[in-house]
Formats: sequence, C-alpha cells, structure tokens
Amino acid sequence: MTEQGYTFKAEIQQLLNILVHSLYTDREIFLRELISNAVDALNRLQFEMLTNRDVLDPDAELAIRVSVDEEAKTITISDSGIGMTGEELIANLGTIAQSGAAAFIRQLEGMDEAERPSLEMIGQFGVGFYSAFMVAEEVRVVSRSYRPDAASSEWVSDGSATFRVGPPGEPKEDRGTEVIVKLKEDAAEFASNWRMEQIIKKHSDFVAFPITIGDRVVNRQKPLWRQPPQEVEDKEYADFYHHLTMDWEQPLLSTHMIADVPVDIRSILYVPSHRDRGLLNARPDYGLRLYARGVMIQQDNKDMLPNHFRFVEGVVESEDLPLNVSRETVQRNPAVRRIQKALVGKLIRELEDLAKEKEDEYARFWNEFGIFVKEGIATDPSTKDDLMPLLRFHSSKAADGDLISLSEYVERMPEGQGAIYYLLGENLDSISRSPHLDYFSAHDLEVLFLVDPVDGFMIASLAEYEDKPLRNVDDASLELPDDAREGEDADAAPPVPDEGFSALVARVVQVLGDKVTEVRESKVLRDSPCRLVSPEGGPGSDMQRVYKLLNREFETPKKILEINRGHPLIRNLAHLVDTTPDAPVIDLTVEQLFENQLLIEGVHPNPISMIGRIQALMEAATAQGRADSE
Ligand code: ADP
Ligand code: MG
Repeated sequence: MTEQGYTFKAEIQQLLNILVHSLYTDREIFLRELISNAVDALNRLQFEMLTNRDVLDPDAELAIRVSVDEEAKTITISDSGIGMTGEELIANLGTIAQSGAAAFIRQLEGMDEAERPSLEMIGQFGVGFYSAFMVAEEVRVVSRSYRPDAASSEWVSDGSATFRVGPPGEPKEDRGTEVIVKLKEDAAEFASNWRMEQIIKKHSDFVAFPITIGDRVVNRQKPLWRQPPQEVEDKEYADFYHHLTMDWEQPLLSTHMIADVPVDIRSILYVPSHRDRGLLNARPDYGLRLYARGVMIQQDNKDMLPNHFRFVEGVVESEDLPLNVSRETVQRNPAVRRIQKALVGKLIRELEDLAKEKEDEYARFWNEFGIFVKEGIATDPSTKDDLMPLLRFHSSKAADGDLISLSEYVERMPEGQGAIYYLLGENLDSISRSPHLDYFSAHDLEVLFLVDPVDGFMIASLAEYEDKPLRNVDDASLELPDDAREGEDADAAPPVPDEGFSALVARVVQVLGDKVTEVRESKVLRDSPCRLVSPEGGPGSDMQRVYKLLNREFETPKKILEINRGHPLIRNLAHLVDTTPDAPVIDLTVEQLFENQLLIEGVHPNPISMIGRIQALMEAATAQGRADSE
C-alpha cells in the first residue's frame, strides 16, 4: 500500500469545521472519546478471542496507555485492541456509520455558536473520534490489525477536508492502535501528565481495562457493580450512570444487586429522570450492558428485562452465562429467565419502596414511565401481578392531580362494596362531569378516572384486583343496590308520571331516530338529565376505545339513552310534550341533550356544529323571558 490522499465525507468536513473553529470550554472530553474507542477495540478483541486464538500477540496485556511529550506537545493514546487495517482506517475514519450523525451535524450547522449545545455527547453520534480536532493541529493514527497477516498502516489529518493513509514511517510491530495528538498552541495545557490523570479520573474512571500513565494505573479497575453496595457512595452511582448513558441529569433511581443464588448476578440498574432526554439524545438503541466473567458480551441486551422495562439503563454481569455465547444463544440460555426474574423482582421492590418513602419522586416516576407499566399489563398479562402494585390512578375522591393505588382504593372501600369502579374518559375535566358518576357521588362511592389512551387496553387485561372485579360505571348491566332516594328534598317536585313519561320517550325516539338503539328510564341518575350506555352484548366502552385507538375509521356503536324522570329539565320537557307538542323547543332540546352526552363521552364528531342549535334555544329562552316581562 502506498500513501494516498482521501477526502472526508461532506458531513465530517462540516463537523471538523465546527470543531476546529469553535472555542469550546469542554475540550477535555476528547480524551474520553479516544479512550472509549480504545475500550471498544479491547472489548471487540476480547470477544473475538472467546472463539479464535489465531490472533497477533494472543498473550499481550489488554490495556490502554496514555503518554505525554511536553516538549513536542503531543499526547499518545495506545491500546492493544482489535486494531485496523489500511482499508479499515479509510472506512472508519473518513465516513459516517451512524445514520443519526448526519442529522446531528446539520442541526449544529444551522445554529449560531452561542446557541449550540455542549458537545459533551458527541460520542453518542458515532463521531467521537473527531473531537480530537478540538485540541489538535494534527492527528496521526498508527494501527495494526489483530489478523496475523495484516501490515500496519497510518492515517494522518490536520482537520481540513482531507486525510492521508499509507504505510507508517516505521512499521508497528505489535497489535493495536496508537492515536498521536499534536496539540494546537492554545491547547498546550493538555501536555501534562497531571492534567491527563485528572481528566481520566473524571471521565474514564470506570473503564474496565487498566489505563496507565508512565508505570502507574490511574483508573479504578474493579467494576462498580462487583463492589459490595455498602461500600459504594451515591455519587459513584451517579457518576457511573453518566458514564454509561451520557445523560447528565441525575437518575431517578439506582439499585445495586448482588446475588449468588439461585443465579449469579452483579447488577446496577437505573431509572432515568426523563422518558425523553431531549433533542440531543441520540442513543440509537436501548438495553443493558451485559458482561460474563469480565468480558462485555453485549452492548444493548434486551433479554434481561421484559420489554416494558426498556427505559431502564444499567449493567448486568453473571458467571452463569456461558462465555462463548453468540448473541442468539444468550436469549435461549436458561439462566436468562432466572436473571430476569431476579432483576424484575428487585426493580419492583425498589419502586414500591420509593413510593412509600418518597411520594413526590414516585409521582415523577409515574408521570414519566407509568405508560410503560400500563403497556406491560396490557401486552403481557403474566406480569400483571408484579406490576399492579405500581399502578396509580386519578379518582373521584382524590384531589386534583393526586394519584392513588389500587390498594389505597380497596382500603377505603365501604363495607359491602363488591367491585372496584372506574370510568374512562378523554380528560379529567370532562370525566368529572360525567352523568355516570351521579349514583356513585350520591352514595359516596369512589370511582377511578382513566384518561390515558392506553387505559382501555390495560383495564381489559387487568380484570380484577384482590378478587374484586373492576367494573366500568357506564356499564348498563352493572347491578347497583337500589337507589331508594331516601332523605331526598321533600319539596322536590315528583318525577314525571308514567303516562307523560311514555309520551316523552316516544317523542325522543321519533326525534333521534336510529342515532340510539333504545330510549328508557334510568334507575341510577340523580343530578343529570340523561346518559348514554352501551347495549348489553356489544363491545363495552373499554374495548370501543381500544378499537378507536387502533383504527381511526372506527365508528362509535349506537347506544342506549337513559332518561332521569326526576330531573327538572325532563319534567319541563314532558310537560311541553303534553301541552304544546308543536313547540319547536322540544326537538331542539332533545337533540341538544343527546349531543351533550356525545360531548361528555368524548365521541362528538363535530362540536362546532352545535352552535346553530344552541343559538336557536337561546332565542327561544330569551323570547320566553321577554314575554314573561311584558
Ligand atoms: P464510534 O466509536 O461511535 O464508532 P468514533 O468516531 O469514535 O465513533 O470512531 C469511529 C470508528 O473508528 C470506530 O467505530 C472504530 O471502528 C474505529 N476506531 C476508532 N478508534 C479505534 C481504536 N483505537 N481501535 C480500533 N478502531 C478504532
Ligand atoms: Mg467512539
């Protein structure tokens, strides 16, 4: 191979332009990025050697060395990792592999220097290597692949549009990569062993391979997850979280688990403080880091926790996982099930403790991640018992915004209440006005308010809690103890008598036609004139919401209109039907009453269309008022 010039991919040129010409205060992270590449290279070699001993220098120590030449103002980071051939140097350090990177760079390009975010997390976009140009006037990479027959090669660039690749001045004898950073004048402060050590301690302390300066190892090496929890400080957990996730917020929860039976586990798990880590969260994948006997075997493992816990970050190590695993066999390993069970148990216990000890923080957890818990119950009923204690609900008896658990609900149930009642709705405002609540408010019974689109799914699989069935209060077949109306206002006018009521029902049927399946008397309404209930045998409103969620074309099935015979509005209406059946206000009122119900149920197709009718009603009311006063 002879030396040749190459041009960087366009996005890299743009990125270099930004890096070279900006005055970033966090330039020191270049060292973290170069060390993290060395770690990746060592991990990959270790993984290769699980099945293949035919590598260059099979017995070489797996380590990272950092050395400084104060005179020449260079820093050299060398590793004994997997190395790169000439072709690999061209491919890896000239083009972009990760699809998010180009978008990230375009976004940076469009911003003024002042509004640009910190480049702290540049590494997540698969372009961490180029951060070296924040401090370098030239970067040289000399590398030799682990393949026994590969020759060494050199890559050089000054951060302009081009780089050169060719044979090094002196062939590299041993396996691995050396990155030689020639510092810019204004970055000369980095040419110091002390400064290097300080940066390594700050950003790379948790690296699992020794990092040496001179003959001293400067990072702690024993991985945090293998230390006894009582010896680890809170700050160390937080630091490790930052190291792992590049999320600079504090985690909401961290939990450290060490177990030998029934399965070997060393694990630290985190719940982040936000579901969405904002604009710059480019982490392309999710999952836990998986180690077996000191070797990282998977970066984003998805088998150690059920899918609905995919927001959890962390590390799991187990001696019970076979070393020579392929990614596919991890899945099928019997130890995995046991590890999963133990981790889930631990996580749920920690969350329950959080709920007991720090209510506010648990509320934060619920707001961010409650939807995952609901998803778990909806999609995997076998996890129901584990997840139910984590559920929180708004309710007719909780103050605005307060949340209660199922166990709190059951605790305050009056004696004789056989079911847990709930109501689905669009939002708290409309749900709290629902006529379905009449009976329950009058009898001081608590009703859970479910306003999340996923709630319909969840409730269908939840079905019961502690042998108490969950019942929707809009269910017409709900058997409620008789509403004796005792203690009612003695002055209240009597309900519409039978004859008048039949005439009214006939009129309502005539006006609404096939918009409803039936019109009948309500046994449960108190303060509301009417309500809509689902016909028996049809899909209940839980499932209707699920259908609606799945299929935008879904038409709400027709319902039964139930009328409250004791309500003043209904009494007036019955009176008019009896005395002046031609009054236009009758039909207008019936139609409006019906559409009010659609609105309350959150299924009105076009609320604005009601305005004409409402105005006609207002006209009739004001005309009546005027007639009365004249
Ligand atoms: P990322 O590490 O996210 O892939 P980088 O820009 O940091 O992105 O590095 C680009 C690529 O260059 C790496 O994916 C790897 O293939 C290669 N590389 C960089 N440094 C080394 C190294 N020390 N040893 C082997 N390969 C390396
Ligand atoms: Mg990198």
